[in-house]
Amino acid sequence: MSDCCSAPGLLPFECALENMLSQITPVTETLTLPITQALNAILAQDIASPLNVPNHDNSAMDGYAFAIASLTQGNTLTLVGRSMAGAPFQGECKVGECIRIMTGAKMPECCDSVEMQENVKVAADQISFLEEKQLGSHVRNAGEDIRWGQHVLNQGHKLSAVDIGVLASLGIKEVIVYRKLKVALIATGDELKLPGQVLNSGDIYESNSFVLRGMLDKLHIDVIDFGIIEDDFEAIKAAFVSADSQADAVISSGGVSVGDADYTKTVLDNLGEIGFWKIAMKPGKPFAFGKLPNSVFFGLPGNPVSALVTFHQLAIVALTKMQNAQALKRTNLQVQCVSDLRKSPGRMDFQRGVVSVNDQGENVVESTGSQGSGILSSLARANCFIVLAAEQGKVSAGEMVTVQLFDQFIC
Ligand code: AMP
Ligand code: MG
Repeated sequence: MSDCCSAPGLLPFECALENMLSQITPVTETLTLPITQALNAILAQDIASPLNVPNHDNSAMDGYAFAIASLTQGNTLTLVGRSMAGAPFQGECKVGECIRIMTGAKMPECCDSVEMQENVKVAADQISFLEEKQLGSHVRNAGEDIRWGQHVLNQGHKLSAVDIGVLASLGIKEVIVYRKLKVALIATGDELKLPGQVLNSGDIYESNSFVLRGMLDKLHIDVIDFGIIEDDFEAIKAAFVSADSQADAVISSGGVSVGDADYTKTVLDNLGEIGFWKIAMKPGKPFAFGKLPNSVFFGLPGNPVSALVTFHQLAIVALTKMQNAQALKRTNLQVQCVSDLRKSPGRMDFQRGVVSVNDQGENVVESTGSQGSGILSSLARANCFIVLAAEQGKVSAGEMVTVQLFDQFIC
């Protein structure tokens, strides 16, 4: 940990992140998967192209292939054969001759250019070219998309649907990827009920594990759901011991703010080396992180917005490192804020906002309104975080602010 992180008081956001990342060990186990099962998996190998794409010079148009030299002797050529996609022209052609050719069909050896069919006049086997042509017109050259041996994807890359298509286009049917992580989810609280259950006085519906499940799914991480665990020392301990024995990471929500019924801290103090942090961020001040005997532990705050923001800003970064994936690049933009924003210096804020384009064609951001850490619907309405530095005070409408656009894990 760097010096800033050992200072007393609230832990700066960057220090919390740095501390966490320094304790994360990436997975090393790999497996070979057919590309049809590799969507969102993390590549454990570099991929170099085993061929040229396209593999041969081919036509970009339906039309006529010819040698540009033929047109120096007049603009009418004799049709002597055809080249179809998958059935190339096999013969030879001479100066003054041309070949009917379809889009994607292999260029005949004797031809170097193509004219589209709309620009010729056809009279039996006599093809008259109506416009002057350039050498190489409408020809797609072998290797112009990807050259043989060219580096296509790097180790650590998360495979998208397009990447799977690129691999298929290279004739690659299997890839070596890192094994999937397993994360155990635990929700704590006597007041929590599942959708479908009856709410008694003082109860609320559990939502954190539903949000986290969805986000973990997008991260390509398997979830072991421990459901809702009551505020009881033995029950919480049994859940944590079991979760630790099965998962690479254990994520709980609630019970880290050290209230009267928060047994999580006592249990974790018994089981592992956990830091209970007060991070200088809003929402999300209480956050726990550390090591259990077999796994790492993330203790998210119970409030739904705080749980999501700490998961997104801190835990996902650590889980990405654990997956052996390339570090995330988040999209930060400077835009004009059209709302007044309340803020006191001291903590880094992740306020919820909506970026849009105004009548002048400029990007502007508007606050979603009340920023309470229990208001999950404020996140559902938002499409970005308005990120305000710890030392920043209130913002007046018209000032420029930094926004971080929601990535695929939230949307
Ligand atoms: P705690 O950190 O346990 O004191 O919880 C803080 C607030 O978050 C309380 O209002 C809890 O009822 C609420 N909360 C805790 N866990 C969840 C959950 N899994 N889903 C929704 N709200 C929760
Ligand atoms: Mg609680």
